[in-house]
Amino acid sequence: MYIIFLGAPGAGKGTQAAGVAEEFGLVSIATGDLFRQAVERGDDLGKKVREFMAKGALVPNEITVQMVLNKLAAPESGKGAILDGFPRNLGQAEALDEAFKKKKQKIDSVVYIKVEEKELIRRLSGRWVCRSCQSPYSIQGALTEEQKKCARCGGELYQRPDDNLETIKNRLKVYFSETAPLISYYRNSGRLIEVDGEGAVGEITQRIIQALRKKTCKNK
Ligand code: AMP
Repeated sequence: MYIIFLGAPGAGKGTQAAGVAEEFGLVSIATGDLFRQAVERGDDLGKKVREFMAKGALVPNEITVQMVLNKLAAPESGKGAILDGFPRNLGQAEALDEAFKKKKQKIDSVVYIKVEEKELIRRLSGRWVCRSCQSPYSIQGALTEEQKKCARCGGELYQRPDDNLETIKNRLKVYFSETAPLISYYRNSGRLIEVDGEGAVGEITQRIIQALRKKTCKNK
């Protein structure tokens, strides 16, 4: 099973992908995480993508598509995968469909997680992430040094450099102009599942799991 998670920055794609991947025994491939790890390592890829990420712009397709196709070709993706944050424009979506067609495979479902813009800004500006285990936290306002500790592993919590208001606004602008058109691209090909992304994390996970099970039954 191959699934795409589509939604604006802050819609909860990463959080939901973790729960849904576990339920269905899939791997989760998050392009943003892969790019951040490359920047952290300071390797060639990291050097190429750093500036784009800092501005909240999209990394060029020739870099992004190849990275994802390599990940999909790896043995651990053989049982299926959730693509979190990819594709993000029409060129990427078409390149992905083309690559799957060549392998005689297909993207089974595209889960579109819908969240209001005001809520996206609230979530992104209050997002803290653990440096060690990547657990996300939603905390509004400033934190004391004591509060900057992960409840799961004791690691240090930090705010992503692109989660500042100016970059958040640019990322949303890029989302609405380049990524949102993919909603009709996938709706027109009968692969879109729309899920309300507001509410408790566990409830949203269940909504996605139920919707995917229903769709899989229909397709059989
Ligand atoms: P994310 O963690 O998904 O919010 O992604 C962080 C940043 O990584 C984005 O603002 C882009 O600069 C870059 N990025 C992630 N996924 C893609 C993609 N599919 N295409 C181009 N750039 C991407």
